[in-house]
Amino acid sequence: MQREYIARRIEVEGIVQGVGFRPFVYQLANRHNLKGEVLNTSSGVSIHVEGIDKDIESFCRELKKNGPPLAHITYVSDYPEIVKNHDSFLIAGSRPDAYRSVLISPDVSICDDCLKELFDTKDRRFSYPFINCTNCGPRYTIIDDIPYDRPNTSMKHFRMCGKCQAEYDDPGNRRFHAQPNACHDCGPSLTLYDNSKKLIDGKNPVETTASLLRQGFIVAIKGLGGFHLAADAENDKAVCALRKRKAREEKPFAIMSFDLERIKRFAVMEPEEEALLSSYRRPIVLLKKKEPNPLSREVSPKNKYFGTMLPYTPLHYLLMRHDFTALVMTSGNRSEEPISIDNEDAFNRFSDIADFYLTHNRDIYLRSDDSIVKRTAGETRFIRRSRGYVPTPVFLNRTMQPVLACGAELKNTVCITKDDKAFVSQHIGDLENLSTLEFFELTIRHMKRILDVDPQVVACDLHPDYLSTKYALSRKNVKVVRVQHHHAHIAGCMAENMIDGPVIGLAFDGTGYGEDGKIWGGEILITEGSRFTRAAHISYIPMPGSAAAIKEPWRMAASYLYDAFGEEMWGLNIPLLKENGRDKIRFIIDMISKRINSPETSSLGRLFDGISAIIGIRNHVCFEGQAAMELEMLSDESTTETYDYEWISDDNVYKILTAPIIKGIVADVHNGVHPPVIGGKFHGTLIRIFIELCKIIKKDTDIERVALSGGVFQNSILLSGMINALEENGFKVYTHKLVPANDGGISLGQAILAGMDI
Ligand code: ZN
Ligand code: ZN
Ligand code: FE
Repeated sequence: MQREYIARRIEVEGIVQGVGFRPFVYQLANRHNLKGEVLNTSSGVSIHVEGIDKDIESFCRELKKNGPPLAHITYVSDYPEIVKNHDSFLIAGSRPDAYRSVLISPDVSICDDCLKELFDTKDRRFSYPFINCTNCGPRYTIIDDIPYDRPNTSMKHFRMCGKCQAEYDDPGNRRFHAQPNACHDCGPSLTLYDNSKKLIDGKNPVETTASLLRQGFIVAIKGLGGFHLAADAENDKAVCALRKRKAREEKPFAIMSFDLERIKRFAVMEPEEEALLSSYRRPIVLLKKKEPNPLSREVSPKNKYFGTMLPYTPLHYLLMRHDFTALVMTSGNRSEEPISIDNEDAFNRFSDIADFYLTHNRDIYLRSDDSIVKRTAGETRFIRRSRGYVPTPVFLNRTMQPVLACGAELKNTVCITKDDKAFVSQHIGDLENLSTLEFFELTIRHMKRILDVDPQVVACDLHPDYLSTKYALSRKNVKVVRVQHHHAHIAGCMAENMIDGPVIGLAFDGTGYGEDGKIWGGEILITEGSRFTRAAHISYIPMPGSAAAIKEPWRMAASYLYDAFGEEMWGLNIPLLKENGRDKIRFIIDMISKRINSPETSSLGRLFDGISAIIGIRNHVCFEGQAAMELEMLSDESTTETYDYEWISDDNVYKILTAPIIKGIVADVHNGVHPPVIGGKFHGTLIRIFIELCKIIKKDTDIERVALSGGVFQNSILLSGMINALEENGFKVYTHKLVPANDGGISLGQAILAGMDI
């Protein structure tokens, strides 16, 4: 039978640019004796092939099956074409199209091939700190516009030398069209400065940096998505100095270690955690501490975990191979400001923090902090989703018109939707100062550009004072949709699980503006489509001093005690009253009685805070959620007892009373029950209350699906406990796996709800 010579055009969408897709197609076409061409378009990659029909068929099959490691194909379309009689297969120049739907790859850690060359004395890139190839290197942080070509990246300032150019032009080479391709002769380079901006040791800045760190100095190191502040994690003095200078008293520091072997000196790992650490996304993974361990106590005080990562850039590898067990590598910022990316900016901002600066001349266009994950209940959970993951989209169960969602106030992210994808930005931070607001606006502009959309719908929180809300309201000629905070939490969880409801939504959270103007945060919201009804919540309690009550949990403790005992609280024999002084507490109670600056809250986060103060863990916090976190860390999970509990039904809404729990805890404190047991009982009580309520709601509504969201679900005891108990009772449980349960996931929920509302 005569074989037919035909032509076809194949359009591929997804993450197919900057990941070695064209050379892969080139080699595949040659293997199948096909002629034609492949090129990047603004919607992905377009392939024209000519040859015998059966060769084209097998080519298409392999194309879909065996892409390069970083490619992610979302859509392939295939059309008959006219035979153009190409005499070979070639890679043609990029074509800018009207329609742009190309997906940009996240930044990728150094690959094994590049790592080998980095440590190979005979390789021309031996110890070159910016070595990369099509399978690895910077992407999102150096890109300015699409398509992903060198002139649209911060590598445009470096002209490739002859050798690099030859690699770049050779379709058979691993560096074919590797946009950040560079070498010692032509690429970016390192410089080391001291605190007075004086240049130090032009020859081997990495070696010098390692020796400075070993001597206990603090060095600001420019990385992939921003600066880190580095110190030797075994050196108590250095770590303490860093804490003091960074004004970061107790929040755990992230650390970096050369390999899994070294990590085993101070932490224990499950196989899944090892795989996460080693993945090309290289997140910070929270690992259980090994005790005793050689690291300074100051790295992660009062915490069971070390936030640990492996090196992800060649520079990190060059530095870490020295004999450090681990280096502290904390985000280079001043307390809650965004991470620094610019050399001059770093000199200014770290002048009283860093002793030395190891910088380079490859610009970072978009900062991106390290991502933080934790394994809980058999899944990877995000605490912060940023470098290595962004801008990979969350795929949706619907096609949406473009929406910009501005997120919440703390741990802000923004989200832009396009077609059936939601692009959640990198971690922007707490929108409480001008520099974070600037970063927020820059990120929005940047995302609009690389996604090529200009959303006419803008979603934001109900809270009138959030800077993100003010930003949304100040947009001209757009439709603004205000979304209740916990509704957004639940909707985000539903979106990433591709369900529309109805669900029983458990929003366990710190702070969120309610529809009644009160502060919500311990909620059961029955959610379906774009609507919700509030089925239950923790009963309202005054927050004396408002924001001050968040920083000072003893104020919340006083409020709960007064609610439970009234004037009899003064007769209680508990340390809280002595520690904080009766006069101070009396003053707080007066505030409550006179309703002065004491907004009401149903927040579960505040209940954790209050209890942690009552049992003597913490009266003041240094960072958001600290008291609740320490209560979790100390709680004994094996405790099976619980406290009495009670709710009332008021207007078809169940209100969970805190008084019986508080009375039970106070009785335990009186009787000398240890805090770990009290903590365990409290967790167990919450789980029981919410299971009971879910069962009642299921009976009333027939809803068997439960979605869990809100920052309090970063608490592993609560998350695992709720999942287990719900499943045992026949519920189908949906949790966060793609975006954080905390306010970093709010923008996704806002975007989806605003999109449905149109
Ligand atoms: Zn590589
Ligand atoms: Zn070169
Ligand atoms: Fe929240």
